[in-house]
Amino acid sequence: MIDRYGRTIDYLRISVTDRCNLRCRYCMPEGIESVPMLQILTFEEIRDVVRAAAANGIRHIKLTGGEPLVRKGLPDLVRMLKAVDGIEKVTLTTNGVLLGLYLPELIEAGLDAVNISLDTTDRQKYKELTGSDELNTVMSAIHIANELDIRVKVNAVSLDLGEANIGNLIEIARQDPIDVRFIEMMPIGFGKNFETVNHRDLFKKLETMYSGIMIDEREHGFGPAVYYKIPGYLGSIGLISAIHGKFCNTCNRIRLTSQGYLKTCLCFSDGVDLRAILRESPKGTDIDQALRDAIREAILRKPGEHCFDKPEEITEEAGMNAIGG
Ligand code: SAM
Ligand code: SF4
Repeated sequence: MIDRYGRTIDYLRISVTDRCNLRCRYCMPEGIESVPMLQILTFEEIRDVVRAAAANGIRHIKLTGGEPLVRKGLPDLVRMLKAVDGIEKVTLTTNGVLLGLYLPELIEAGLDAVNISLDTTDRQKYKELTGSDELNTVMSAIHIANELDIRVKVNAVSLDLGEANIGNLIEIARQDPIDVRFIEMMPIGFGKNFETVNHRDLFKKLETMYSGIMIDEREHGFGPAVYYKIPGYLGSIGLISAIHGKFCNTCNRIRLTSQGYLKTCLCFSDGVDLRAILRESPKGTDIDQALRDAIREAILRKPGEHCFDKPEEITEEAGMNAIGG
């Protein structure tokens, strides 16, 4: 549907769990408590929300988390959501640790694309950042995914890890048609403790590292990345610059937290508790209609822009793992 700023809202990101098998320092460091499973939406509840969202014009779903693949039976959810009328694409963002194991099943269930998060290809830095020694598993998942019939992108949060780190990540795009995208750190959760790398500076660096780098106008998905081509590389380089290249005027998304709270902007806590509608509505309530109405009203309240440049206005306190990055 169209919101009050004339934006088409057709993309829903769903956090299927707040749990994770990694401990990225900017997202979910050691010591974060998990929400009891009973408070997390069931697959059937997620499907009901997606039906109501589809009735309001949502066409694309991204499954995220926490780490979505630690939730048992994720391929079943993919299959359920692909069967919802109006839903055109279901995609996944994962840290890649369990991807090699589940990818054939996910593809068979109808998964359309996968984003793999990887901030460094240096084993020691990876260990320091994630608390885990899984770099080789993730690199091999990237190769497995590339061999299978599915679109693969690699997402790296831009951390100040040096030029060599940037170059090593971009190498992934050289011989395979895998887009490598850099994401500006947002001051959400533990991300607040990290300095955001300014993507204007990153682009200047890319220009000195890769002569001939040029804008790539082709359609790459339904997100806000700006893409560039490097001569001789099969994949493209994407920059997602929420802070220094604010793209709120084209924002197309809403988010469902693992506990069933529908959020309309990362920056603000405003939204609607769909779990309460699902579980606590008085007997006789038409729950499907109530969900449709609540989602519509929330979309109509969606703010015009984020406020990350004015930290005193940020009202969101939850971490990225709970919201669903
Ligand atoms: N575990 C999955 C993964 O890592 O892809 C899905 C959830 S994770 C929260 C989704 C993405 O959000 C990851 O690419 C992660 O790097 C990114 N992320 C986490 N905290 C962030 C922050 N403060 N700013 C920008 N991106 C962030
Ligand atoms: Fe887990 Fe993804 Fe957060 Fe890392 S970024 S801790 S992999 S949810």
